[in-house]
Amino acid sequence: MKPKINWKEIKTVLLDMDGTLLDLYFDYYFWQEYLPEQWAKQNNMNTKAAKIKLLDWYRQESGTLSWYCLDFWTEKLNFDVFALKADVRHLIKYRPYAESFLKRLNTLDLSLTMVTNAHEKLVKMKADETGIDTFFNQIISSHSIGYAKEEYAFWEKLTAKISFNVNETLLIDDNLTVLRTAREFGIKHLYTVTKPDSHRPKQNSEEFESIDSFNEIDF
Ligand SMILES: [Mg+2]
Repeated sequence: MKPKINWKEIKTVLLDMDGTLLDLYFDYYFWQEYLPEQWAKQNNMNTKAAKIKLLDWYRQESGTLSWYCLDFWTEKLNFDVFALKADVRHLIKYRPYAESFLKRLNTLDLSLTMVTNAHEKLVKMKADETGIDTFFNQIISSHSIGYAKEEYAFWEKLTAKISFNVNETLLIDDNLTVLRTAREFGIKHLYTVTKPDSHRPKQNSEEFESIDSFNEIDF
């Protein structure tokens, strides 16, 4: 079903980056495949054992700011995670029609803010690769706020950085935990995306209205 966004009610648009505007495959491939392989090599482990260990660590940090923090993993793994990310930067890509959606948003009288859990250094790498930064009035990384978007405090602290009325705000985010927290905070217009990663199956997103493709959005 086509998403029906009531643009007349919306003054502020908050957009997630990874898995919403950009293909999550870059991040998935990096954490699930490339990093375990490289880390295994460095530590003379086999890749399978490295994956099991790393996946267990990922689970422990899931939904926290540490999980999204390159410095945290660089220290924990004793490995330059940022440099490793650069090896696979060719996988950084827009999701289908995301760029034309952003161009269209730019023609409207809206305040456009990126809200991302990505580390600032990674936002810069992705902006250099795609030019995504040029579409936004501001880009806010949860690392500058001190809480991940999954946490209520992120949204409270966001109000000190940008002013917005929750009833006139649209948030699009592929992360359902983030959407639940935003709903609890009071943000009225909430949408998820059905296929954050081009290489993996659709996610079950019935709890929220969802966007299959950005080219289905009417203005
Ligand atoms: Mg995301």
